[in-house]
Amino acid sequence: MIKTVVSIGLPVDEKLLIKKNSISSAGNTEKADGLKRISIVTGIHGDELEGQLVCFEIQRRIKEHPECLTGIVDIYPALNPLGIDSVTRSLPAFDIDMNKTFPGFNDGTMIEHLAANIMQDLRGSDFVIDIHASSIFVREIPQIRIPFKFREKLIDKCKLMNLDLIWASQSSSVSENTLAYALNDEGIDAVVIDMGIAMYCTKEYCNQVTDGIFALMKNLGMWSGDVVAAKEPIYAESACIITSKTPGLFIREVKCGDKVEKGQILGSVINPLEGTVKEEVIAPESGLLFTVREYPVVEVGSLLGRIFR
Ligand SMILES: [Zn+2]
Repeated sequence: MIKTVVSIGLPVDEKLLIKKNSISSAGNTEKADGLKRISIVTGIHGDELEGQLVCFEIQRRIKEHPECLTGIVDIYPALNPLGIDSVTRSLPAFDIDMNKTFPGFNDGTMIEHLAANIMQDLRGSDFVIDIHASSIFVREIPQIRIPFKFREKLIDKCKLMNLDLIWASQSSSVSENTLAYALNDEGIDAVVIDMGIAMYCTKEYCNQVTDGIFALMKNLGMWSGDVVAAKEPIYAESACIITSKTPGLFIREVKCGDKVEKGQILGSVINPLEGTVKEEVIAPESGLLFTVREYPVVEVGSLLGRIFR
């Protein structure tokens, strides 16, 4: 059943609507009390689209075997619908990152009101998954990010989710005022999945993440169908970060997800005007290259890659 989570009037007779599809094994009856509930949210950054395909695929599988579902699956594809419609990361016109506004404030500004209503709707979830897609600059292999402070309560569930790595960090995607942090702060289990690259849907990654969500639902007692045996993830609390020492164009020699050796050439920063190589980018550590730059133009300090040892 499609429901409106929040509706806010826009200046000239239009409305900002955040919607969800609430799929319940109880159907449209009132027998939902006591059922487990998982919430899948995405689209808080309007140019990150990987989660859209996950929302579709979860529903496709449930429609194929509705008899396997016991519980409620709430799917929120677009927490920032104006951003998705205009290919804009932040909330258009306000230029504010919505994922820095939680838990929000009902009587506050429009954005604080939005955040407060999203939080209110997610209360009662047994587990919340917020799906992101890196940025337009770098590609990530599918990974779970959890706020460092809440790592112990979340880690066992994360291991079920069929992803390549679990990163307990204090990075911006899970820092204070993010949705995931605010939910955990209230005692609601919530994780961030980051994968792929902005403005793109990577089918292989989306299927892997969907497999993991069904494995988690099985563990929660919500799904009786077959699920995959989850991958053994790498757990890390810090990463080796590789940045550019010179401006130019980064041409990579490796791909996201490669295992690299210390000293291996990852790529080079070139100068197309002079036809010169300005920097050879060397792996400072051996490990899993879980992030790699795809957008070639770099400044000094631009992120080129990240390795888990
Ligand atoms: Zn994001």
